[in-house]
Amino acid sequence: MSGSYQTDARRRDGEPVHLPILSSSSSHTPSPGVSAGPLIDGLARRIRYVRISLTDRCNYRCTYCMPDEGIELAPRADVLSFEELEATVRALQQVGVERVRLTGGEPTVRKDLIELVSRLSRLGLQDLALSTNGERLEELALPLRRAGLHRLNVSVDTLQPDRFAQVTRRGSLTKVLAGLEAARTAGFAHTKLNCVAMRGFNDDELGALCRYAWDRDMIPRLIELMPMAEGQLFYPGTFLSVAEQRKILTAELGPLLSVETGESDSELPGVGPARYVAVRYGGLLRKVGLISAVSEPFCDTCNRVRLSATGQLHACLAYDDAIDLRRVLRSGLAGDDLVDRLVQAARGGLSNKRAGHVFSESGCGGPRKHMVSIGG
Ligand code: SAM
Ligand code: SF4
Repeated sequence: MSGSYQTDARRRDGEPVHLPILSSSSSHTPSPGVSAGPLIDGLARRIRYVRISLTDRCNYRCTYCMPDEGIELAPRADVLSFEELEATVRALQQVGVERVRLTGGEPTVRKDLIELVSRLSRLGLQDLALSTNGERLEELALPLRRAGLHRLNVSVDTLQPDRFAQVTRRGSLTKVLAGLEAARTAGFAHTKLNCVAMRGFNDDELGALCRYAWDRDMIPRLIELMPMAEGQLFYPGTFLSVAEQRKILTAELGPLLSVETGESDSELPGVGPARYVAVRYGGLLRKVGLISAVSEPFCDTCNRVRLSATGQLHACLAYDDAIDLRRVLRSGLAGDDLVDRLVQAARGGLSNKRAGHVFSESGCGGPRKHMVSIGG
């Protein structure tokens, strides 16, 4: 990796930045001088995956995620530039982080998203994915695919237009469904369809959402409601545990089976955030993911960190504390020195990664920050 500098660059908002000029090679063999060894936290969990928030802004106001009015958003000057994002990904790549998901807020409202995806896709990551509400997907799916994006997660909590308008406050289901079609046509396969399952809202649609996804070669995933922002947007009566979700799915779709064997399996195996189960549908075994952050946490297998839009590296979604990578990125360092400092800072943040979180079904235990301030 070159250690030379480019000092005359400007952020899109006109602010100068110090850019490390980095090799375009996709190699991620640690450079001499870069703190060696993978990113491992104090509990021996190896970090391979970073979720990067591109913005804390959104064109929706989902009831469980953002208040309708009045959320305090980050000053634009604090938001990381594309150069800073790329430098961060390159640094994390040096210590074995090979999977990146772009998120937000709503990442598709970030100006020149396609350019950023092109830049990151040239880094040779194993996985480059994007989470979106789908509102702008119809126009963006093909450009995203051409820019080198590998995969998509699209949030769809309901297939009923009036419910969709109610939960998103500003969204159009018609547009999102057209966006999903555009994604398929553009060549995105196995898109994940994410649905926050809520009692009294969409608990009568979980089977229909799965069938909708399977009919289009997508993978449905049901997410437990989490009490972010000190539970301000959490209505305990709407919490639907994965245990209850399984009962609903069984009643609507038939027995839940092991993904590996197709046998009946009450242990529901899996690692990572989604535990997958299979259902026999249309003569095939089809998968559905259950993400149970609250009632059946998966912290012991957590392999991820989150970078907020303003460059705060969060070891865990459930806590407010973070390491300020923006300060390192704007310290004037470049090349290997910058990579070293970023890696050191990330390691420091990880030493504080908790064993687990304390989200509770009554709406307590989450961070003070909103999901969009950390990165969802
Ligand atoms: N705007 C994009 C979207 O909606 O997919 C990406 C960011 S969003 C914060 C990422 C995911 O977090 C979405 O699937 C959303 O439904 C989920 N989410 C937001 N707030 C949540 C909460 N309080 N509990 C559970 N999931 C939540
Ligand atoms: Fe926006 Fe996604 Fe949050 Fe909904 S869940 S308000 S789409 S960031």
